[in-house]
Amino acid sequence: MNNRPVGVLGGTFDPVHNGHLRLAMEMATALDMEHVRLVPCARPPHRGAPTASPGQRAKWIRVAVSTEPRLRLDDRELLRDGPSYTVDTLASMRAEMPDTPLCLIMGRDVFAKLPQWHEWERIFDSAHIVLIDRPDIDAQLDPKALEALEQRAVSDLQVLHDTLAGHIYTYTPPPLAISASYIRELLGEGQSPRYLLPTAVLDDIMDAGVYQPQPATAASQ
Ligand code: ATP
Repeated sequence: MNNRPVGVLGGTFDPVHNGHLRLAMEMATALDMEHVRLVPCARPPHRGAPTASPGQRAKWIRVAVSTEPRLRLDDRELLRDGPSYTVDTLASMRAEMPDTPLCLIMGRDVFAKLPQWHEWERIFDSAHIVLIDRPDIDAQLDPKALEALEQRAVSDLQVLHDTLAGHIYTYTPPPLAISASYIRELLGEGQSPRYLLPTAVLDDIMDAGVYQPQPATAASQ
């Protein structure tokens, strides 16, 4: 295979933070990827609606990766109608990049519940999975996820470069205990999440008033 793998990091990114960005950089460098795409989902099928709008979440990613060529925003899920199924996203990337290995990057917390995803086994037709071991998160794997891991695990990184799809490679990056929910919590309490996410993103969140306590209205007083 001549082409280096392209990494795909999906998520709600509500908002994007340094945990996501540092993870994507680690992947791009440690796994020698061509680039890593951050793919915000429009309507996550497995959790509640995000607080920020699709446009805001995409804008913050665009701002966050603007000076780093190895990271990119891919907003195809926001442009598609219906639920954001990863299997469809990967199939459309595969059609655009027929000769490029694709690596879907996901935390162990997400992989643990993979069998609940729409047509999850077809994901391996289009992509490898890079499983991010997160010591901060203790996730019990669904038995079918465990079975897939046992059947598809590879320990040689080169396999991700030599084949297009179908394998699972586990990687343990230095942990960064940052989450979007913690950032939303801090903002909701009127506290600052500064340094957990890029300053330009935080500035825009503050300007837009997202996640922050709303001033009491006359009716609620
Ligand atoms: P929330 O707190 O709202 O659940 P989150 O911060 O976990 O959000 P997501 O958009 O749900 O962010 O995550 C997208 C992907 O990034 C998932 O695969 C998740 O495991 C991974 N991820 C998120 N935060 C980190 C982190 N600090 N270190 C490594 N991976 C992370």
